[in-house]
Amino acid sequence: MARVEISGLTKRFGDTLAVDGLDLVVEEGEFLTLLGPSGCGKTTTLRCVAGLESPAAGEISIGGEPVVSPARKIFVPPERRRLGMVFQSYALWPHMTVFGNVAYPLRMQRRSKEEIRARVSETLALVRLEAYAERDCSQLSGGQQQRVALARAMAADPRLLLFDEPLSNLDTKLRGRMRDLLLRLHRTIGTTSIYVTHDQLEALTLSDRIVVMNQGKIEQIGSPHRLYTAPVSRFVADFVGFENIHDAVVCGTWDKGYQARLDGGPVVGFHHEGGLEEGAPVTLAVRGCHVDIRTERPPEGAAHAPATVVNHVYLGDQVEYTVELGESRFVARTAAPAGNGSAAALDGQVGARLWAAIPPEHVVVLEAR
Ligand code: ATP
Repeated sequence: MARVEISGLTKRFGDTLAVDGLDLVVEEGEFLTLLGPSGCGKTTTLRCVAGLESPAAGEISIGGEPVVSPARKIFVPPERRRLGMVFQSYALWPHMTVFGNVAYPLRMQRRSKEEIRARVSETLALVRLEAYAERDCSQLSGGQQQRVALARAMAADPRLLLFDEPLSNLDTKLRGRMRDLLLRLHRTIGTTSIYVTHDQLEALTLSDRIVVMNQGKIEQIGSPHRLYTAPVSRFVADFVGFENIHDAVVCGTWDKGYQARLDGGPVVGFHHEGGLEEGAPVTLAVRGCHVDIRTERPPEGAAHAPATVVNHVYLGDQVEYTVELGESRFVARTAAPAGNGSAAALDGQVGARLWAAIPPEHVVVLEAR
């Protein structure tokens, strides 16, 4: 297990600045995920840690040992960094047995035959592949191959594990099973891990902390809960699935915060501790599951305002409505009605009138100026 320190990491490919002065510390035993859209620089960052790319500037140390620093002319080759890597493409030797693949890094380290045998069996047991040791990797399913890749990465007792979109080639059900396996292994072994993905669910379920990247820089770092509930920018809110992001102007106060008028009319209350002037522009976000919609007129004094359905989509367990509140559009998600034929029962609701409210406690202030 090792702490990883990255400072001022910069990597260019021609005119593209793939990683832009990145500073990051991964604590000993931490599972940290780099999350972001395609091209944001997460893979390049991981490859610099692995030693598969050479940065233009900056420094990376693993367990206190500098492994790369162009300024100090340090470059420790990948095989001497004592890390394990799992790629999207498995990268196994197809005509070697499962045992041979997992034993490979141990053979490279010239460990004794007895030690290799013991270590390979132990690692294969962790990924529940003991029964497959003598099978060629070409005769395994995708999920089994990825478990072999995982065992190979762990076999030589690395101080750091690196994962580059390891579940992307698997179907939904298998991904769920592999996520559970990764979580269990991390809880058992506790190796410091850096995981690259663009999949929000993977990031939320596996990580101690998530780093959201945008154009080679860090946009936000935080626990899964923090990122999910308190994104700091429009970019992060959008990426973690806030369906409603609106610009607004502060137009008053109430006992727990402020009120703001959205473009297009409605006034929304929100909690905020900082000082805001009347007329200040703010950006507000709210998840569709928190927009409260009712088909029946709410009791006198409720915060609901009349709204019109402009679209609805049946999602199985939920129905997603798009409603017009004043001239602003909001996405609202509600539990789908139970029982047979509920999808049919929802037809013909475009144009229907209902009541909608935006609960202030679920409104996130992204930018307040
Ligand atoms: P993805 O999820 O698609 O892999 P990413 O966030 O991991 O994306 P990177 O692969 O790190 O992003 O790429 C960052 C930027 O650097 C992109 O603009 C990409 O096109 C560019 N880039 C990455 N590798 C190379 C390369 N070998 N040659 C040229 N440009 C590259």
